[in-house]
Amino acid sequence: MSKTIAAISTPRAAGGISVIRISGDNAIAIADQVFFPVSGKKLFQQAGYTAAFGDIRDGEHQIDQGVALVFRSPKSYTGEDVVEISCHGGILVTEKVLRAVLREGAFPAGPGEFTKRAFLNGKLTLTQAEAVTDLINAESEKGLKAAQCALKGALYQKISTVLDELLSVTAHIAAYIDYPDEDIDDMELEKIKIVCESCSESLRKLLETFDRGKVIREGVETVIIGRPNVGKSTLMNLLSGYQKSIVTNIPGTTRDVVEESVNIGDVVLRLADTAGIRETDDIIEKAGVERTFDRLMSADLVLAVFDSSSPLSDMDYTLIDKIKEMPTVAIINKSDLIANIDKKDIYNNFKHIVEISAATQTGVEDLNLAINEVLRLNDISTSGAMLANERQYHCVLRADSLLQGALEAIQVGFTIDAVDISIESAISALLELTGEKVTDAVVNEVFSQFCVGK
Ligand code: GDP
Ligand code: ZN
Repeated sequence: MSKTIAAISTPRAAGGISVIRISGDNAIAIADQVFFPVSGKKLFQQAGYTAAFGDIRDGEHQIDQGVALVFRSPKSYTGEDVVEISCHGGILVTEKVLRAVLREGAFPAGPGEFTKRAFLNGKLTLTQAEAVTDLINAESEKGLKAAQCALKGALYQKISTVLDELLSVTAHIAAYIDYPDEDIDDMELEKIKIVCESCSESLRKLLETFDRGKVIREGVETVIIGRPNVGKSTLMNLLSGYQKSIVTNIPGTTRDVVEESVNIGDVVLRLADTAGIRETDDIIEKAGVERTFDRLMSADLVLAVFDSSSPLSDMDYTLIDKIKEMPTVAIINKSDLIANIDKKDIYNNFKHIVEISAATQTGVEDLNLAINEVLRLNDISTSGAMLANERQYHCVLRADSLLQGALEAIQVGFTIDAVDISIESAISALLELTGEKVTDAVVNEVFSQFCVGK
């Protein structure tokens, strides 16, 4: 018998409604002590998936009116009996409802405990549970799509296919190990080799999705760079939609790095407006310029801004040299003014160039397109299986290197036992990934990253 748990499942903020979720064997009995349907029919008398309107009380005290939803085991999120009480979305009201529920015998749920129970009861695989967090945390269209796909089980299915193949190989090998007199022939070994190779290839494709998916998981580290007064801060403010950087016409005003996250296309750009590049003796400004270059070198995307109303300076040429091999969009700004710049030098050094006016807000659409092209966003498919976090990545990495070990063992003519041990270990690594064979420590680690109420 599992102890019954309860928590507020909506954010701790005032809103239209809040939901208190109760799960466990006593969920319905406990709810019946605090929730009183106006129909007079108790919740335990109701069928699953029904909603009742009624009074929420703590002993004699009326707290609120609301709706109770009953889900009967196993047809609920956790697989247990679940009651969700919706009340008005005030922080105090909601806490009072939870307190009443706890007083009737429910225990406060730990972080992710509802989802953990769903996993333990076989309602979700571990990778699907992880997708729930990713779904909640998704900031961009691409991130959301990837999480939805994982929630539907795309990664699990991919891993299952590999597992099935490896399991059939080990079943086959077991037959030889059981009858040691029978020597495995080369034809059989060749078959095992082919399966290991194709599984390894599938795993490597998955590993690649992790590298490509960084942009989706973490956003794009973006640096806006250019000499003072070309319009970096104006551009940043335009992209972020409100004044964040200090815009002035005194060169070097942006002393340090100002940061902002903005949604461009289907991803999140982590934008940094940097101190303008210029030779300076000012100590504070110098530190800013150094930091600019540090950031520049580790950036996923560089937005290099040039002023079309004045000729390119030595500083501009230094900058061009520094960044021309980086993923850069060259931005020729102030297109509303009379051009006085040698555009050839820009067009000869960069592949992606846009002409805009940050001040009059023209050319932003071209900039969006150029950013999508530089990042090759259209190549990042979110519809297939994808590795979503380090845990998953390392399980696949381990499985792949174990398969390589098995292939080497075949190559050098080790006994079939040695081959078998490597393949079995690869299987274990993949079962750890899906959560089918996983230690409590790993499970606890995964769910500790959830919030209370999920
Ligand atoms: P930063 O030093 O590169 O950050 O440049 P700022 O964004 O502070 O802009 C410097 C000056 O250029 C300000 O007076 C802006 O109003 C002006 N400016 C920025 N973008 C444009 C533009 O597209 N057209 C015109 N005419 N002026 C601009
Ligand atoms: Zn600035």
